[in-house]
Amino acid sequence: MLGLMQQQNLLISSLIDFAEKHHGDVEIVSRRVEGDIHRTTWGGIAQRSRQVAHALDQMGLGFGDRVATLAWNGYRHLELYFGVSGTGRVLHTINPRLHPDQVVWIANHAEDQVLCFDMSFLPLVKQVHSRCTTLRQYVALCDADQLPTDTGIPGLVSYEAWIQGQSTQYTWPEFDENTASSLCYTSGTTGNPKGALYSHRSTILHAYAAALPDVMCISARDAILPVVPMFHVNAWGIPYSAAMVGAKLVFPGAALDGKSVYELIENEGVTFAAGVPTVWQMLLTHMKPGNLKFSTLQRTVIGGSACPPAMITAFREEYNVDVLHAWGMTELSPLGTLCTLKNKHLKLPEAEQMKIRLKQGRAIFGIDMKIVNDEGQEQVHDGKAYGDLLVKGPWVVREYFKQEGGDPLQQGWFPTGDVATIDADGYMQITDRSKDVIKSGGEWISSIDIENIAVAHPSVAMAACIGIKHPKWDERPIVVVVKKPEASVSREELLKFYEGKTAKWQIPDDVVFVEAIPIGATGKMLKTKLREQLADYVLPSA
Ligand code: AMP
Repeated sequence: MLGLMQQQNLLISSLIDFAEKHHGDVEIVSRRVEGDIHRTTWGGIAQRSRQVAHALDQMGLGFGDRVATLAWNGYRHLELYFGVSGTGRVLHTINPRLHPDQVVWIANHAEDQVLCFDMSFLPLVKQVHSRCTTLRQYVALCDADQLPTDTGIPGLVSYEAWIQGQSTQYTWPEFDENTASSLCYTSGTTGNPKGALYSHRSTILHAYAAALPDVMCISARDAILPVVPMFHVNAWGIPYSAAMVGAKLVFPGAALDGKSVYELIENEGVTFAAGVPTVWQMLLTHMKPGNLKFSTLQRTVIGGSACPPAMITAFREEYNVDVLHAWGMTELSPLGTLCTLKNKHLKLPEAEQMKIRLKQGRAIFGIDMKIVNDEGQEQVHDGKAYGDLLVKGPWVVREYFKQEGGDPLQQGWFPTGDVATIDADGYMQITDRSKDVIKSGGEWISSIDIENIAVAHPSVAMAACIGIKHPKWDERPIVVVVKKPEASVSREELLKFYEGKTAKWQIPDDVVFVEAIPIGATGKMLKTKLREQLADYVLPSA
């Protein structure tokens, strides 16, 4: 017997309709590329996203055609999020930090028809447009009078001229909820990037899940600052969840330095912020000397890379801000786990709670996960046994766009490429990317653990632990360190700092001080590049 409830497709257009109808006066604040602060509302975003829809229709763009963006977090990008997907076209957010050749490759692979870009990326667009073979319309996200002439980019229009005069009335089309809505390519550290193609259904389900109390706990009382970029995994789905609950959004634009982010948090009454550890490090570094405090910020979700314990402590103890450690990936839309305590943990001493907070967290309803060994056998959930992390769920990739790379699944499970433990309470902890695992004397050493200890040292700004070939032990860890400005610490001091904090055999064999550690397009350390840079390095003990 079938249930007797109404059948309604889960469509992204319903999010913006809802936000307009029930939270139309809630502000959307953006720091623009020009540097000024722009204010609109969910109502304003809804109107202009319908104008975008008309502009796309007028071009004769087909259902499912791709509209690309090279843009910071801001109101125009948000309008495109709804205007493009709402009409059944696919929003392809391109990461502007990629190498220009990769941008060309991705735009051609996606067969993008339109490219909307922030003026900061004009030089990039000038560099690549002649090689992007499918693009037929370029839209600069600026006012009509800001549009530069003689760019050499054919048919370039300003966004404001593009949508001006279009009706603000539009009836969003109804279609199957499994229709593609947006496209994001993985950073592709090995081989070509691969496209994760999200659907309306996966996006709405993810938006519901992301807003849950044990996930990001987003509500109509929040003012949210997504520092995580809208050009990578849809800013962790925050634009959709915020529309779903009617939260205020505060967009930082291109200004991600500590001072700008701090000012925005204070001036706009931000209660919740989301970002990767490197961005928060800049914020904390800005706040420390002047003993600045937050007056409204309550919690921050940190993910994308392991959050160092020192950062969780700083936020909690010095600033009274709760830290939610999160794990996810492009192929997961992106959220997989989030770390919040259970009721039974609340009475534990702070140090015991901290051990839990450091983990990447518990599965969100919708995501199932397991760890397996090399033979594919499931490992116990005791917080010690580790294995390859596999996941499945309605917002996990089934295959990549255009079947790139073949069938990625292992009997229905998606192999994340991460190595993890899961404890008896279901808390997952990443120990490494599988290709970064250090094998020493038959045992594994977690590079994340070694890095976390180094960055807890007051003189260390950044640390990367890599394995170096060793004649006896197979591999030994070394830690590559960037010191804080004007700080000093010696190799011996740092190695001493490890004593008592980890097993003796896990202490790195050496410390290599460098000016900078290479960072990839999504803000993660590029260990492949670091290994290349240290190709001639010889271990002192070898
Ligand atoms: P991306 O698809 O670019 O978002 O990268 C996803 C990868 O980032 C994951 O597979 C992890 O290796 C890493 N990652 C994301 N969040 C965390 C976290 N909280 N701790 C450690 N690694 C993380």
